[in-house]
Amino acid sequence: MNKGIIFDIKRYAIHDGPGIRTTVFLKGCPLCCLWCHNPEGQEIHKEILLRRDRCPAECFICLDICPQKALRKPNGEIQVDNSRCDCCGKCVEACVYEALKIAGCEVTVEEVLEEIEKDRIFFEESGGGVTFSGGEPLMQPDFLDGLLKECKKRKIHTVVDTSGCASFKTIERIAKNVDLFLYDIKIINDRKHKHYTGVSNKDILENLKNLVDIGKRVVIRIPLIAGINDDINNIEKMARFLKSLRKIKQINLLPYHKGGCAKYKRLQREDPSADLKQSPDEQIKSIMSILMNYGFFVKIGG
Ligand code: SF4
Ligand code: SF4
Repeated sequence: MNKGIIFDIKRYAIHDGPGIRTTVFLKGCPLCCLWCHNPEGQEIHKEILLRRDRCPAECFICLDICPQKALRKPNGEIQVDNSRCDCCGKCVEACVYEALKIAGCEVTVEEVLEEIEKDRIFFEESGGGVTFSGGEPLMQPDFLDGLLKECKKRKIHTVVDTSGCASFKTIERIAKNVDLFLYDIKIINDRKHKHYTGVSNKDILENLKNLVDIGKRVVIRIPLIAGINDDINNIEKMARFLKSLRKIKQINLLPYHKGGCAKYKRLQREDPSADLKQSPDEQIKSIMSILMNYGFFVKIGG
């Protein structure tokens, strides 16, 4: 049975491709971008999330119930030792305050399609469909391939939201059942790219070129983070590279937001994005006009 791990399904999404969409978030990502807003999607395995704001730190039922002794209360507050936790879910079931949750659940292709089918009427009315996002959906190629094939069999429009960080063989394999790629480009300088994302951009840029060459429809997404990639030098170089591919028409700019910060707390991980800021409006306007001067259709969000 073709199974994978997802960490969310978002219904009625309007920023993940055309029309009204159902977005399925697959777990696992080879990058660790400083500005990641879905840190619970980075690890491919399940993880426990703790909402301290919901836990009054009084009952400690979870402590006694945990077979792995993965929960502690060093300062009177619950702490999870993820290296011991095997995500059995016993503490989640026991906590009446719903302070504990597991990020990630194992599902079959059929189970995901069952959820997707509930929104078919919205897809048909709005020209929407399903978007596979993450994490990085290409981290689970067999599962993603199975999902895409099944969507195509049912005539559902498909979008894959990707960092492009995979072998081109993998991308080519799934591409035949993808109607549109939302492809992230972050920083053109490879040294800086490695510094802020943990990986080189060489294969990512090469994969984009190859994807365009095999005739796939691609919309570029650029996350904008103040002082990291919103400088004119980076934008100009990205624009020149994208123009050289000839077939890219649309770029969506995604100004940084603080959506990931609360999630780092729930994962009990240090937040590497704590000092990051959104680019000023004036800077975003300048970036838009540079990209438009290169002939791209530019949108904020999406
Ligand atoms: S069971 Fe829930 S409310 Fe009680 S201590 Fe554990 S996390 Fe907090
Ligand atoms: S999920 Fe299971 S192993 Fe993990 S902390 Fe809860 S009870 Fe312990």
